Amino acid sequence: MNVKGLMMVGLTSLFVLTSCGTAKKYPPKTITKIIRDTIIVNKHTEQPEMTRAAKLDNYKINVDKYPAVGQDERIRYLVMHYTAIDNDLSLKVLSERDVSAHYLVTDLPDNQIHLLVDETKRAWHAGVSKWKNIDNLNFTSIGIEIVNKGFADGKTNKAFMPFPDHQIKKVGELAKDIVERYKILPVNVVGHSDIAPGRKPDPGPQFPWKRLYDEYKVGAWYEEADKLAFITQYPLDADNYSFILSVQNEFKKYGYDVPTSGKWDDATRKVILSFQYHFRPQRYEGTMDPETWAILKALNKKYNP
Ligand SMILES: [Zn+2]
Repeated sequence: MNVKGLMMVGLTSLFVLTSCGTAKKYPPKTITKIIRDTIIVNKHTEQPEMTRAAKLDNYKINVDKYPAVGQDERIRYLVMHYTAIDNDLSLKVLSERDVSAHYLVTDLPDNQIHLLVDETKRAWHAGVSKWKNIDNLNFTSIGIEIVNKGFADGKTNKAFMPFPDHQIKKVGELAKDIVERYKILPVNVVGHSDIAPGRKPDPGPQFPWKRLYDEYKVGAWYEEADKLAFITQYPLDADNYSFILSVQNEFKKYGYDVPTSGKWDDATRKVILSFQYHFRPQRYEGTMDPETWAILKALNKKYNP
């Protein structure tokens, strides 16, 4: 490909994606107290491999004598994406441009997952984003980019591409490992569309959130019985101010950035659509209905009582 061609590909994909110390021996008993954003533990050997701390010419830094109780993880969220481009281009764009993610999962049936950004560093994957009143989630999240072509515009709806089984197994095992190490809350495992409603559709309704929950204990899912109980309580008049306001407050409670206007406004419809991509992927229209509402209520009952 000539230079101009390469530049065009680069610019196009950029648009798509942006629119989307020293080894030290510790006694084993201290491992459980190690905070993971400063020390990386090799899961297989259970040995700390690296401490990120100052190395001075004239003074020794004691890194293991007085570990403070008052500390916690910087990483609170796990964000899922799709790249909307193929394997080679995804790797190129995410490693060479000003957009990145910690991990890239290709759609190849191999045993490889690419680490593009060290977990202790900030990757540039979330962009303008908000969840539970925290904005710019790049600071506090791990990002996983998954190679998937995204969607084609269909007659009534966007037609999203499925994720192959072998790719979901990679994502599942990786996500489980991350969620366990950082103790990421189920409701803080989110799609890019959840934290940037309307601006981002990924990872889309084909992404198997329920399977990740069922098989890998990753992310949140509602109890079917709760959904069925709530569904009978959907009001006959769903267009009045107080009901809409209550729905907006339920979305806010779960984590979404939504106005409290008491109207089915554009921003609220975008949140409904993102929510349906994630939790009611069989039908996604961006309008409220009894099942969508019942799922939202069931999720808050389970995770935000
Ligand atoms: Zn994305």
